[in-house]
Amino acid sequence: MVDKIAVTGMRFYGYHGALPEEKKIGQRFFVDVWLSVDLYGAGTSDSLSQTINYAKIYGLVRDVVEGPSFKLIEAVAEKVAKVLLNAFPRAEVCHVRVVKPDPPIAGHYDSVSVEIERRRSSVYIGLGSNVGDRALFLKRALEKMDAAANITVVRCSSIYETDPYGPVQQDDFLNMAVLVETLLPPMALLMEIQQIEAELQRKREIHWGPRTIDLDILLYNQDAIDMEKLSVPHPEIARRAFVLRPLFEIAPHLVVPGVNRSVTDLWQNLDQKGGVRLWKANNGEGEFGLFVN
Ligand code: ATP
Ligand code: CA
Ligand code: CA
Repeated sequence: MVDKIAVTGMRFYGYHGALPEEKKIGQRFFVDVWLSVDLYGAGTSDSLSQTINYAKIYGLVRDVVEGPSFKLIEAVAEKVAKVLLNAFPRAEVCHVRVVKPDPPIAGHYDSVSVEIERRRSSVYIGLGSNVGDRALFLKRALEKMDAAANITVVRCSSIYETDPYGPVQQDDFLNMAVLVETLLPPMALLMEIQQIEAELQRKREIHWGPRTIDLDILLYNQDAIDMEKLSVPHPEIARRAFVLRPLFEIAPHLVVPGVNRSVTDLWQNLDQKGGVRLWKANNGEGEFGLFVN
């Protein structure tokens, strides 16, 4: 998307800074923002309802910059991006620049500034449970994700009962896949879902062993991530029926980067399709329709 709305050169007086005098006396802050938003509808209809009102952008930025003080302009920029992306669902990307023109440091320079870009990301998460009240663990995990700041559950698959995978003897799993929208970058999202696992008594005793809840990041937009603690797409997606079956239900056309094949293609051509049974169908009543009765 190349369409953008920009509001630049906004000037405010605020009290952000790490030094006591910055918090007491305050100083000037300049802010620029760019929101990526599809402007075709607005351009062809000439209608304000099809776009983002820049007076509102200004007001929201002012409330942050003139509001409670932060130590860092990084935190100011982060808050501005979060507020704008939450306020304007049409905006896909928010680019923010925060400038301190008169920071309290000696020497000659123009200004100091930070610039960040945050986006709304579509993420598929795989859930699994094979200990205790399995469906309740799935439900609690979904509720906790949805309640977390910056994560919204958008779509849920049905629940499938699946034979355990791997060498460990254990009870059958319940598995499902969900689409969430999030403002969190990948590592922050991983930390958030690991926190939810911990709150739901997940213990890491045996690798691939029994667990109250397992939350895996299957795909994060179309990104390929290869970090020590995070591999995305999840490296096992293409081999696991218990992942592909629910994913096929909610995202048949999704292309898995790396292998570059659609979920439908991967599911239909999977050798080992067995061991996955529909356990509870999503009745389609909203994203939580699954747990209505
Ligand atoms: P598998 O990842 O094969 O499904 P598992 O879910 O049983 O196995 P865990 O013990 O839950 O494995 O996680 C081990 C580590 O895997 C986590 O601490 C995390 O850092 C790492 N990890 C790497 N990529 C991912 C991902 N895409 N989603 C979740 N965790 C991941
Ligand atoms: Ca897993
Ligand atoms: Ca896991």
